[in-house]
Amino acid sequence: MSAVPKIKEILIDSIGSDINYLLDQLVDHEQVVKLIETSVIDQPSQVVGDGKVIKTGYSSQLDEVRSDAGSAIDYISRLEADERKRTGIKSLKVSYNKVFGYYIEVSKSNISLVPSNYIRRQTLTGSERFITPEMEEYESRVLSAKDKINELEKTIYKKICIELSDSHDNVLKTAAVIAYIDVVRSLGEVAVLNEYVKPKLNNKTSIVIKDGRHPTVEKLVPHGEFVPNDSHISNDDAQLIVLTGPNMSGKSTYIRQVALIVLMAQIGSFVPASEAKIGLVDRIFTRVGLNDDIAVGQSTFMVEMVETASILNQATDKSLIVLDEVGRGTSTYDGLAIAQSIIEYINGNSKLNCRTLFATHYHELINLAEVFPRIKNYNVRVSENEDSVVFLHNIVPGAATRSYGIHVAKLAGLPAEVINRADHILAELESGGRPKAQSKDIINYRQLPFEFTESKLMENIKNMNLENMTPLEAITKLYELKQVAENNNENNRKKS
Ligand code: ADP
Repeated sequence: MSAVPKIKEILIDSIGSDINYLLDQLVDHEQVVKLIETSVIDQPSQVVGDGKVIKTGYSSQLDEVRSDAGSAIDYISRLEADERKRTGIKSLKVSYNKVFGYYIEVSKSNISLVPSNYIRRQTLTGSERFITPEMEEYESRVLSAKDKINELEKTIYKKICIELSDSHDNVLKTAAVIAYIDVVRSLGEVAVLNEYVKPKLNNKTSIVIKDGRHPTVEKLVPHGEFVPNDSHISNDDAQLIVLTGPNMSGKSTYIRQVALIVLMAQIGSFVPASEAKIGLVDRIFTRVGLNDDIAVGQSTFMVEMVETASILNQATDKSLIVLDEVGRGTSTYDGLAIAQSIIEYINGNSKLNCRTLFATHYHELINLAEVFPRIKNYNVRVSENEDSVVFLHNIVPGAATRSYGIHVAKLAGLPAEVINRADHILAELESGGRPKAQSKDIINYRQLPFEFTESKLMENIKNMNLENMTPLEAITKLYELKQVAENNNENNRKKS
């Protein structure tokens, strides 16, 4: 509140008439500022009533009690030095405990020097503890003064609050205006620093963005390396975008960027793009990220479905829906089935039928664009050399052709052996084969010595714990046994 005059000065100097109306709402609070400045310590304690909140000079009554207490405290703090001088006992100590309050401690060897006004309170092995009537009096003055100070402080503080509450409405109004200025000023600052543009808002059901950027991801990648992307979404001809592309290529970033640009445009901000025409949305619905809500006992997939259900039940044809990898939380076929069904529902249901971005790694979903004219495929461009893949983060029409999961696994540092084997399995799968399981153990079995006999094979089968095996373990074991049997045959053949 003490900054209000300065804020007003800056406003008068620097702005046009369109926010001059704020000036009228920014009232000065001289009285309030003066009251707080004169009454409350600059760094008060957090609890009112422990003597460290009200400034000296504000209340003469409080000052008087404080000075009284001060002289008593002075007396006690000087006591040790004074008594040492008076008695000649160099080791004399003044201490405090909760049972006796302040006391004087003298070692046994000096007891003969103790003056007659000392009253014995306690005898310890090597020393005696005393008090004096004068000490008792000062002590009670300190204690009662402390109580009085604390009580007075509470009363004074309450009075200040009551006085301030008269200005309650104006204070809140000022806070709201300052908050508003803060928001507008900050949006102005980021718009200038990051070259945002003023969006054009309209009542159409389309979103057209040129060179859109994600306002925070562009800050995280090295300067100038963020790849801007265009967007054209419209209930008329491109209502639902199916965005395919490898993991880590930029799908999430892109769909969130569109939602953020729409949100920023609607709160009155400039947007990170070179041009933006935004048809007003009534709500933005998102299902992004896989946050498991373990605390309430819901599985990832359940959370995903609950959120998706609420979107499908609430969205209107004026909404924007952003769905990231819906269906990922369950098995491939379930997930794919649900994802496709959701897309068909949003596209075909006249109540929804709204602007939607759907990022997915289910390539099967690209076929929907062939059937539904308002569903469009987009993908993230990838540049492929002989053995390296570069994600260009460029969103282009059409569907992704490959998923490059193995490439991402390589980037993440999986052992070369795992990557090579995965490449091999993928090639077999893609050519319609069923890759055989292979394990290190099998290789060992292949090198088993001649004496491995059929009876050992039987023993091995007998020892198998079928109840506790997963199907994968079972098939691996079966394969192992087959290898063992084959090796055994081979060995027998060689022997003979
Ligand atoms: P996906 O959803 O496809 O797995 P993300 O959207 O999470 O991928 O993006 C992965 C990373 O790629 C981001 O953290 C960012 O570093 C980078 N990235 C994404 N989009 C862009 C872009 N347009 N320009 C530059 N880098 C980007």
